[in-house]
Amino acid sequence: IQAAAPPAAPVKTAAGTKGGIERTFIAIKPDGVQRGLVAEVINRFERKGYKLVGIKAIVPSKELAEEHYGDLKARPFYKGLVNYMTSGRAPVIAMVWEGPDVIRQGRRIIGATNPLDAEPGSIRGDYTISVGRNAIHGSDSFESATIEIGLWFKPTEVFDWKFTHEEWIIS
Ligand code: ADP
Repeated sequence: IQAAAPPAAPVKTAAGTKGGIERTFIAIKPDGVQRGLVAEVINRFERKGYKLVGIKAIVPSKELAEEHYGDLKARPFYKGLVNYMTSGRAPVIAMVWEGPDVIRQGRRIIGATNPLDAEPGSIRGDYTISVGRNAIHGSDSFESATIEIGLWFKPTEVFDWKFTHEEWIIS
């Protein structure tokens, strides 16, 4: 009998394991901080059952903001977007959240990019009315989550920890 080949080890990335326990990059943008939405955002992810594994206040450098929004470089609002993120009139609250399907679920909690299309009950749907001031960012795929977590956080700033009551949240 030939021994079965061991299963390929899942590739460990900053965003965890695709389809399993994932990590996503969530950022409260300067307008969200000015609007006093920090606790509200954290509350919604926390009460859902997701785990906060990294958080910091940061005024991103122009380089960081440009890299983060690199795929939008050709868009007419790009320069204004970078200026708004880097102005320092309020910091960005950068976070890493962890849990099952957190990347896709995080996008649902946040709502559509244009607040006028965002469902009531989502953060953008409840608190914002302008696409240029939509309060919050969330990674849109496993690949971008991996890149964005690596861009905004050092490995030592993201923590592996367990809820003591994990079995009551995930089974
Ligand atoms: P999302 O943030 O939902 O992933 P995008 O990646 O398409 O959406 O856009 C990134 C950010 O660029 C948006 O969250 C918003 O702040 C800004 N943005 C997008 N479209 C516009 C627009 N038409 N005018 C001004 N800002 C925009």
